[in-house]
Amino acid sequence: DLLVVGSANADLVIDVERRPAAGETVLGGDLAVHPGGKGANQAVAAARLGAATALLARVGDDAHGRLLLDSLRAAGADTVGVLVGGAPTGVALITVDPSGDNSIVVSPGANARLTPADVRAAGSLFHASRVVSAQLEIPLETVVEVVRQLPADSRFVLNPSPPRPLPAEVLAACDPLIVNEHEARVILGDARVSEEPADWARLLLAKGPRSVVVTLGAQGALVCDAAGVTRVEPVKVDAVDTTGAGDAFTAALAWQLGSGSAPAEAAGYAARVGAAAVTRRGAQESYPTAEEVDALCCA
Ligand code: ADP
Repeated sequence: DLLVVGSANADLVIDVERRPAAGETVLGGDLAVHPGGKGANQAVAAARLGAATALLARVGDDAHGRLLLDSLRAAGADTVGVLVGGAPTGVALITVDPSGDNSIVVSPGANARLTPADVRAAGSLFHASRVVSAQLEIPLETVVEVVRQLPADSRFVLNPSPPRPLPAEVLAACDPLIVNEHEARVILGDARVSEEPADWARLLLAKGPRSVVVTLGAQGALVCDAAGVTRVEPVKVDAVDTTGAGDAFTAALAWQLGSGSAPAEAAGYAARVGAAAVTRRGAQESYPTAEEVDALCCA
């Protein structure tokens, strides 16, 4: 089984002609409210594929929290680990202008109150899982506690987003560490590092993870471990909206690795899931079923 530990946010989106300057009010289109946050996105993506998936997260006792719980349950995810209360549900306030540029304010809310003690209290979820997946939209000390609670036979997958320098204890547990270009540069601590993604993968591996996956959008991905670097070919699709593609890729990869697939094979499947997710608008709303992934590969 897959356990995702991470964030759950409501994304509040308004289309505007122009994003407001200081002191200014602009009128926009109708408000759209979408379930989001990297943890909830991953849990929904994996559950929709058919993976037995649980989410450990915290939401507020409010309408946004109920929206998130409804989306998780509709996908088939186990929500027993979704703690309720302590602060309002995390929110992302997003304005989008006609060119597609956005401005975002995030209120972490309940996500900032997911504590190491919450992780310790979720022991039974950890023991039922072969793979545990985390991101960094929750406190880093909570992610450190996740690593400490990992059962000996389970695998840890981390997408360090939003990126920040990681303690050696967390890096050493990652199998794999999954990064895009921006995350790779921040974790490496050098924005001027080589332009060659295979170099980022090797440099990241030298920081301690057992394996590294670099996602490259429409260019596919790279898998890197002690045996070397393997390229994962992209699936050619008409991209409509890449929101949440990385979360779908990570969820699919974690699930496949937990099911015993070899890394390159698991990443190939994850690339098909990521490609399917970019063919539809939205994050959670865009995630494919296993049948849709199979149809994409044979089209
Ligand atoms: P992130 O959202 O974290 O930056 P990416 O954009 O790299 O992640 O997307 C994750 C994965 O989804 C990619 O490695 C790729 O396999 C797939 N993907 C993303 N965008 C496309 C695209 N335009 N065409 C095909 N596959 C894509």
